[in-house]
Amino acid sequence: MIDVKSLTRYYGKTPAVQDVSFSINERQIVGLLGHNGAGKTTVMKMLSGYLEPSAGSVSISGKDLGPGTTEIQQRLGYLPENLPVYPEMTIADYLDYAARLKGLRGDEKRRALRYSVDATELGARFFDPIGQLSRGFKQRVGVAQAILGQPELLILDEPGNGLDPQQNEHMRELVRELSRQATVILSTHVMQEVNALCERVLVLSNGALALDSPLAVLRESRELLLSCSNDTTDMEHLLSRLPQVARVSALDDSGSKITLSLELNDNAAMDTAAGNISRIVMESGAKLYSLTPLRRNLEQIFREAVREKGGSHES
Ligand code: ATP
Repeated sequence: MIDVKSLTRYYGKTPAVQDVSFSINERQIVGLLGHNGAGKTTVMKMLSGYLEPSAGSVSISGKDLGPGTTEIQQRLGYLPENLPVYPEMTIADYLDYAARLKGLRGDEKRRALRYSVDATELGARFFDPIGQLSRGFKQRVGVAQAILGQPELLILDEPGNGLDPQQNEHMRELVRELSRQATVILSTHVMQEVNALCERVLVLSNGALALDSPLAVLRESRELLLSCSNDTTDMEHLLSRLPQVARVSALDDSGSKITLSLELNDNAAMDTAAGNISRIVMESGAKLYSLTPLRRNLEQIFREAVREKGGSHES
């Protein structure tokens, strides 16, 4: 669907984005993360054809994006970080103008406008000038123009910006719905948004790609937390003999309950390990209270990825 090769962008002599490559094949929601100044907006501008790369290429459905590729641009929707505002224009006029820019005409345009306005709940303010809208409403106008014509590729720069919690939830539902028919690339600083929406994350650090991974893989833990009754003196020893277990550490073995952390070997299947651990506990005569995989802290994973790449905070 989208193929990005060695994308690079300089502002003067300063590199803002360096040698970024990735492909997205199927309809997915992909999060683009990174600290302030990491290069997210610059990447998104290049993906949507608003900014020319200094080097590298973006191809969408097999066609290279470049000057004069309006046909491709009509099939993508872009919500920029700062939507150019036309304060004197009404929402109706602005969306009509945006629809015409996308090549929509007649009934097709009317259907597209209705869908966008309903999806972003802008109907009640349709004939209001944009200058009179609150920040959250302006953001919804931006989203409405991005989804006009239900594009195959949606590029959303901080879609939750300026929205209240209820509107944010509504926005997430809308993004999920749109992703049934479109690939969505969204940038965000909000980890809850990543957790709630994204199937895959790309992390930028100092303009370079520091991490590209499915979220499920990042969340996958190699550690189990066991809580059982303290009836057997050599529980740690029994469990450490399992082939799936690399290390056992006692977190608490005082009193009638013990809590152990079990680190698994890299090639161990979590299900097999959990089955064997519970069997050993039962066979020893102890009571099994809980056995749960430790969830990995995503913020920490991202921080580590950025640190490995030598990235730093700008703010
Ligand atoms: P934020 O999270 O703050 O929006 P970002 O990850 O989107 O940041 P970019 O806006 O892409 O980052 O900026 C990447 C780098 O390029 C920064 O160092 C920024 O100062 C620089 N930059 C961005 N736009 C310009 C410009 N028009 N001229 C010069 N430098 C720029």
